[in-house]
Amino acid sequence: MELTANARIVLESRYLRRDEQGRLIETPEQMLERVALATAEAELYWGEAKDVQQMASLFFDLMNEKLFLPNSPTLMNAGTPLSQLSACFVLPVEDDMAAIFHTLELAALIQQSGGGTGFNFSHLRPEGSYVSSTGGTASGPVAFMKIFNAATEGIKQGGKRRGANMGILNINHPDILTFIDAKRDAHQLNNFNISVGIRNDFFKALETGKNYTLHFSSVHGKTIEREIPAADLWHKLIHAAWATGDPGLIFLDTIQQFNPTPGIGTIEATNPCGEVPLLPYESCNLGSINLSRMLQKSGNQDWQVDWEKLRRTVHLAVRFLDNVIEMNRYLHPELKRMATGNRKIGLGVMGWAEMLIRMGIPYDSQEALQFGSQLMQFIQHEAQIASALLAAQRGSFPFIIQSQFSGQQRRNATLTSIAPTGTISLIAGTSSSIEPLFAIAYKREHVLNNQTLFEINPAALEILSRQQHFSEQMLDEIILKGSVQHIRQLPESVKRLLKTSLEIDYTYHIAHQVSFQRYTDNAVSKTINMPASATVADVEKAYRMAWQQGAKGITIFRYGSKPEQVLHAGLKK
Ligand code: UDP
Repeated sequence: MELTANARIVLESRYLRRDEQGRLIETPEQMLERVALATAEAELYWGEAKDVQQMASLFFDLMNEKLFLPNSPTLMNAGTPLSQLSACFVLPVEDDMAAIFHTLELAALIQQSGGGTGFNFSHLRPEGSYVSSTGGTASGPVAFMKIFNAATEGIKQGGKRRGANMGILNINHPDILTFIDAKRDAHQLNNFNISVGIRNDFFKALETGKNYTLHFSSVHGKTIEREIPAADLWHKLIHAAWATGDPGLIFLDTIQQFNPTPGIGTIEATNPCGEVPLLPYESCNLGSINLSRMLQKSGNQDWQVDWEKLRRTVHLAVRFLDNVIEMNRYLHPELKRMATGNRKIGLGVMGWAEMLIRMGIPYDSQEALQFGSQLMQFIQHEAQIASALLAAQRGSFPFIIQSQFSGQQRRNATLTSIAPTGTISLIAGTSSSIEPLFAIAYKREHVLNNQTLFEINPAALEILSRQQHFSEQMLDEIILKGSVQHIRQLPESVKRLLKTSLEIDYTYHIAHQVSFQRYTDNAVSKTINMPASATVADVEKAYRMAWQQGAKGITIFRYGSKPEQVLHAGLKK
């Protein structure tokens, strides 16, 4: 497997198997063989032994050529006794002590296996309300979140992966103000992304300048209700987001509108990075196509999309991910029932920025947005065909009767999702997800093994090295700053093409999220980068824009607003 030095370090530190003495017992190729064989074994249910070998070989090539990679837990655990292969889970949090700790136990097991967990804490009674069994008062959702956070801290996922949680509280919960400020202290809830669950009625109250009612009905019939000016609540929320990046928003009505199986339940939460809205106990297997490998040179030597190669890759990837559901070992019977009932998969992309650079299309252009939609529409359409073909052979997903696909043939309730691809894009050696380059060159700090990795994007390097005034000295300058914008000798067209995350206006970040969302069944994980100088009004505009344009959620990141940044632009000496 052709790997960059960085990819090799990541694989060796966390993905390749080791013996009890901690010695490596597999190579990257053997890892791919393990994953390919384990996922191909599902073919046995519908075919013969020779189909397994044949499919294993196709899956191996798919990953070895870095056309597609599954999410990290599949790479880490396929073909091992653990065999927990999914990255994303949502678990219920009921207003009952035993149930809360049952969920916490399951979350701990999921995180230990490399999965991330999302929860909506809105069913928990507010702080200070009555507890009938003890006569005491309840500690409220945020206090329980701290317990979940401490559990994640303790697990640290066997040293393989940091635990990740999504904690949601709906905008009308009486404890919403405490929740909004819960991450003002950066050490608090450090293993959580937090988001406010927004209903459209809140925006209506905001538009009309009305009060908004915070409300909680307990099972014992007690109701708590309090009014607050919608504008005050909104301002507090936006201000916290501006100051710390948290909370993000989750648009519950938009999510429910696209819930493929409303007959099975209401979606109240997403996984940690937001790309998969899920029902309680549901999970999702992700995998991403490397777009930088879906190009070919045209007659005049320009790069263009190899649509046929992309089509083949989508079909094989859908089969791969459907097989993962079959070969997964589930940590709880309810997880199995939901995963095999809806058979959700999330096929996404990585290397979008690199694809755009090679094709000469600036990220902050209408052309990029239109092309993004067109590309994702193609992927979604082909994934639908692939899922229908699988259904003809393997049957539709069991809950299809209670879904919007009732009467059709379809193997999976959802097919597409845009994941952050934080690690798998590094393994594939391309830009992550649909993000622009974070920097032309940057250093990445690895919390787990205290190593610092330096990276220079190859597509950017290729363009730069073709420039007339290119020199080693120029490269040093670019590496130092992580940007090309200050290099006088470079033409404007090259500077425009090589704009990095922070040099791109946030409205284009949101527009990309929305362009891809249009043809994504699940959701799009996207960081809306803002410079340190962004104002509270900018954050407000961003949050409104995301809601109005049909995003399923939004998270902003104002540069410097978080103490522990994983990525730093340029090489800080
Ligand atoms: N995730 C996690 N811990 C991490 C990173 C990711 O639990 O440290 C989960 C989380 O649910 C996230 C999903 O994996 O939404 C996908 O993240 P990403 O695409 O970055 O993962 P990769 O497969 O590249 O490791």
